[in-house]
Amino acid sequence: MASDSISPDNVTIPLLQGEICMQYTRCGKATCRCREGNLHGPYYYRVWRDGDSVRKEYVRRERLMEIQASCDAYRALMEHLKQARIQRLEIQKRIRHECRKIKPRTSANPQGAAA
Ligand SMILES: [Zn+2]
Repeated sequence: MASDSISPDNVTIPLLQGEICMQYTRCGKATCRCREGNLHGPYYYRVWRDGDSVRKEYVRRERLMEIQASCDAYRALMEHLKQARIQRLEIQKRIRHECRKIKPRTSANPQGAAA
């Protein structure tokens, strides 16, 4: 499934929300080793928030690095957008502050002084 001719320059990483979680499980068979605490796994899942619910998707071990990279890329993008939003708000605040200094007050009667 993996391509053998990927160079880092032309790879676009798909963005995936969430994070990878590891889990050990008990299968439920009466005679299994997991009954004594020797659990199965680890199994990996991608867990993410979807509106009000939390979703979970099994991640095959051979795709673990790839999915992890997608989650990292998503998180990095979100952090970048967050910083950009903060910067934009800061710039808007400064512009408003500068405009207040420039604009003359309109409360006084402008013709009053002339004549
Ligand atoms: Zn078991």
